[in-house]
Amino acid sequence: MDEQQGRGASETRSTGRRVPALVLSGFLGAGKTTIVQRLLADARARGIRVALVSNELGELGIDRALLGQGGQSYVELEGGCVCCELSDDLLETLVRLHDEVDPDRFVIETSGVALPYDTQLNFWREPACDFIGDDMAAVVVNAEQLHEGRDLEGTFEDQVQSADLLILHKLDLVPESEWDAVEARLREIEPDAPCVRAIRGEVDPDLLFPPDAGELDRRGPPPPSRPHSHEHFETSEWNPPDGMRCDALEAALESRCREGLLRAKGFVRTAEGPRLVQVVGRRIEITEVDGEAPAPLLGRIVLIHRAGTRR
Ligand SMILES: [Zn+2]
Repeated sequence: MDEQQGRGASETRSTGRRVPALVLSGFLGAGKTTIVQRLLADARARGIRVALVSNELGELGIDRALLGQGGQSYVELEGGCVCCELSDDLLETLVRLHDEVDPDRFVIETSGVALPYDTQLNFWREPACDFIGDDMAAVVVNAEQLHEGRDLEGTFEDQVQSADLLILHKLDLVPESEWDAVEARLREIEPDAPCVRAIRGEVDPDLLFPPDAGELDRRGPPPPSRPHSHEHFETSEWNPPDGMRCDALEAALESRCREGLLRAKGFVRTAEGPRLVQVVGRRIEITEVDGEAPAPLLGRIVLIHRAGTRR
């Protein structure tokens, strides 16, 4: 149906069933994409039709390469943040997916700097308010980041405090004897939201897709949020030369980490073959690429800094 028909389309929508929406949020490098991969596999196995909107701050579409081709039910919004500068694109995308795909569930994987509440506000906007049912913000937390006490103020705190569900992720990167202390630290920031522990994306899908998700009346204003502010982050692209050795690549990334790099992600043609590069805080991972490395993305790494800290 054509968007221009507006009124007619919205009448059709308002008579249909409401579709629950999951906002999966979490700071840069929390492992959101891994959780989405598992969730999609589970939904496929159970015959649940998921429409996924994935949001990357950079413009390369690395997540699309990692998540594979999802067909018409997968939209990637790149080159900005979905809770603010891309919020109109998010609204348009939800309407289009609803009309074209008629999903059982929406999943919105936000950028690592997005505020879940600001993302959820879009569900109260016309015409999404006519067809979005219960919504939930699950916030993924990198246990290693908590353990290191790194970047816990500002965006991280705002995200954690607006969670309906906390997923304490990447616990395998922290000694097991520290797990309780790490969770206690998270509890100091957000004492109330339920918290589950997870490793390598394994979260009970019933927690993320509650079977009893019901109808939510979105007439009237959205619930108030706690005061929060959106910090500014900058992305840039680094093009390491083809044939660089992995150890040289690692050394170059280490020096960028010392200069305040928060997150890096991309594919490189190294002397040892194509590699996926992931940097989270001080952790640098250079791993073999599963299957074909996407040619247009090779030799390109997205770097994310806090605004004004890039040297
Ligand atoms: Zn934003």
